[in-house]
Amino acid sequence: MSLREYCFDGERKLDLDAMPTGAGDRKAEKGALKAQTEENLLRAAELQERMYAEKREGLVIALQARDAAGKDSLIKKVFSQLNPAALKVTSFKTPTSTDLAHDYMWRIHQALPERGCIGIFNRSHYEDVLVVKVHQLHKGYRLAERCLTDDFFERRYRQISSWEQYLWENGYRMVKVFLHISREEQKQRFLDRMELSEKYWKLSVGDMKERALWKEYDEAYEKSINATATRNAPWYVLPADDKWYTRYLMSEILVKTLEDMDPQYPPLDPDEAAKIPAAMQELETE
Ligand code: AMP
Ligand code: MG
Repeated sequence: MSLREYCFDGERKLDLDAMPTGAGDRKAEKGALKAQTEENLLRAAELQERMYAEKREGLVIALQARDAAGKDSLIKKVFSQLNPAALKVTSFKTPTSTDLAHDYMWRIHQALPERGCIGIFNRSHYEDVLVVKVHQLHKGYRLAERCLTDDFFERRYRQISSWEQYLWENGYRMVKVFLHISREEQKQRFLDRMELSEKYWKLSVGDMKERALWKEYDEAYEKSINATATRNAPWYVLPADDKWYTRYLMSEILVKTLEDMDPQYPPLDPDEAAKIPAAMQELETE
């Protein structure tokens, strides 16, 4: 499958059951794809340097997934190869009381990177149409009655799409990535967390409860992806069972997005240029 087949930009509907969770027949190309990943990351770093110099556009990559699908290791292995000075990683946890005293986009908006930088969202505003929907958390929120309508989540999809379009119109690009893991692979990774001492810190027995809601999450993901997939803020549904393959695809997305942005080093400021001959002479006669 090519990158295009993992991309949802509003042209076609996502049916999660039809999407692969593993590398499939591309397993045969593992060596070559791993080498391509390294090449892609070098290319991405080069483009990021231009983007940072130009400061014309900001890029946000929102990572969404079930527990143990590999968001953290993707960040560690892929994005660590970029310049950390131009990178901002934000993890969105259960909202604090201060977060909940504001609209849901409040904490998200504050986490935007400056233009010229890349922001990685480890979870995002999509939690507000995923975990909140599956557990109906909004019903416990302190909100005016007019806000708690039957079309609460339909409204949120619209709000999210509008906000993402707003970002587009203000010099940001948003790319959303769903790491699609199989139930079997998640089970194995949970077992590893229980058995391997270096993985204990990742273990949260509460995560098992979400596993029982597999279908509900599938539906919530499908609905929110279908409602918010647009040309300017596409979704990518990436297989997550084979980490090397997820990394390869993420590196492809990164390069493609940065190439679409086409960042350029800014030209020399004419005022600065005029000062060069004298400055050069000064250095040479030191
Ligand atoms: P983790 O990413 O594994 O550290 O876990 C973060 C937890 O915060 C997950 O269980 C998320 O579902 C939860 N979380 C993130 N955002 C929200 C939100 N807006 N509302 C409720 N729970 C959230
Ligand atoms: Mg977790």
